[in-house]
Amino acid sequence: MINLRTPDEIDRIGQGGAIIAALLDELHTRVVPGVTTHDLDQFCDEFIVSHDGAVPAFKGLYGFPGSVCASVNDEVVHGIPSTERLLKEGDIVSIDVGVRLDGWCSDSAWTFGVGEVATPTQDLLDVTEGSLWAAVEAAVVGNHVGDIGAAVMRRVEGTGYGIIRDLVGHGIGRDVHEEPQVPNVGRPGHGPLLREGMVIAIEPMLAESSASIRTLDDGWTVVTADRKLSAHFEHTVGVTAEGPKVLTAVGSPIYAGSPAPNGA
Ligand code: MG
Ligand code: MG
Repeated sequence: MINLRTPDEIDRIGQGGAIIAALLDELHTRVVPGVTTHDLDQFCDEFIVSHDGAVPAFKGLYGFPGSVCASVNDEVVHGIPSTERLLKEGDIVSIDVGVRLDGWCSDSAWTFGVGEVATPTQDLLDVTEGSLWAAVEAAVVGNHVGDIGAAVMRRVEGTGYGIIRDLVGHGIGRDVHEEPQVPNVGRPGHGPLLREGMVIAIEPMLAESSASIRTLDDGWTVVTADRKLSAHFEHTVGVTAEGPKVLTAVGSPIYAGSPAPNGA
C-alpha cells in the first residue's frame, strides 16, 4: 500500500529531514584526510540525538550496527563504520543518514570528496548529484514513478557511467522503507502514479563503469563488482500540490525547478 500524507505530516517528516540536512552540511568540514568512518559515525550519532526526540533510524535496522552507513570508494552502500577505515586524500565517502523524529522517518545521502579528488572522480560526483536533482524535478503530481528513473537515465546518458539497478529508492514515512520502490531507471508514464501526499526517497547510485554489484562477506557492504568508484546522492521528497518538496535540504525549501546545483 502506498501511503498518502497530509501537508502537516509532510512538514513533520521535514522536521527530521532538517536535522539530516544540517548534519550533512556540517560533514563537509569534517570529512577530511585522517578521520575514520567510525569517527564520522560517532559524530553523526551525537549530532542526531542532540535534537530532542531524534534517533538514528538506521541503527539496528535489519540489524545494521552503525548509526549511519559510510561507504568508501568502490563501496556503493551499507558500509559499516569502522575504526580501521581511515580516509585519505582523494578518497570519496558516501554517508547515508536516516533520522526518526517523533515516529516519522527521513533519509538522505551525500558522497563527499576527501580533500582534493581527481577531476574524473569529481565528475562522477557531479553527474550523480545532477541526476538526483533531475529526478527530484520529475517528482510531480500526475507523473509516474517511471518518470523519475527516466530522468536519471537522461542525465547519465552519454557519460559512460553505470546506473545501479539492483538497488532502488523507496516510499518513506512511519517506516524507513515503504512502498513504492523507486528505481533509478524507468520508462516515462510507467509505474505507480505520483499522487499528492506521497513521500519518497530518491537515491541514484552510479558506478564509474559497470553497474554490476556484489555484497562483501560482512553481509552488508555492497561494492561494485569491478571495484571501481561509486557515488550515491539521496533526498527525501514530498510530492505536493506546489511541486516536489525536498525535505532533507537545508531549510527544507520547496524545490521550484530553479537551476539545480552542479550543472544538473
Ligand atoms: Mg539512505
Ligand atoms: Mg533510502
